[in-house]
Amino acid sequence: MAKKTYQEKRDFSKTSEPEWKEHPSKGEFPKFVVQKHAARTLHYDFRLEINGVLKSWVIPKGPTANPEEKRLAIHVEDHPLDYADFEGTIPKGEYGGGTVMIWDNGNFANIKKWKGREYTLEESYDEGTMEFFLNGKKLKGGYALIKTKQNWLFFKMKDKYASDHDDWDDDKSVETGRTMEEIANS
Ligand code: MN
Repeated sequence: MAKKTYQEKRDFSKTSEPEWKEHPSKGEFPKFVVQKHAARTLHYDFRLEINGVLKSWVIPKGPTANPEEKRLAIHVEDHPLDYADFEGTIPKGEYGGGTVMIWDNGNFANIKKWKGREYTLEESYDEGTMEFFLNGKKLKGGYALIKTKQNWLFFKMKDKYASDHDDWDDDKSVETGRTMEEIANS
């Protein structure tokens, strides 16, 4: 299902995005990626490795380290694990046409606990009450993704990594150091 949706949306003779490939689910420290994406409207794609796929959300305003700001997150189709390495430009007129930058990446750990019980990553995803510790180059510490009636909310949990200002360079790839413009022109 996930594979079908992902593949059907894209013409792989035109886009350089990776085709769907199955991966075994991994162990303790799954990966996450945030991709800044200048499609029709600029947004940030937040992806978490769960059971061998990248569960994906569009965060229109992007992440923030400020716990006071809850950001809208829209759940979209699963992406293959290889998508975490994709940086480049999807041709105009294709699905998601525009430049994609690897804005942040790293590993994460599930930290969901409730009333003394530890939840698995799958459980907290299914329930729509996720809490995880991000070990990224920009994003660090506890973050939450909570399902509401209509959508999801993404926000920083209060810990020593919380901050009322974001001190990262928004326009720099953590993989290649390139700006959106440099990626678009390459
Ligand atoms: Mn996108």
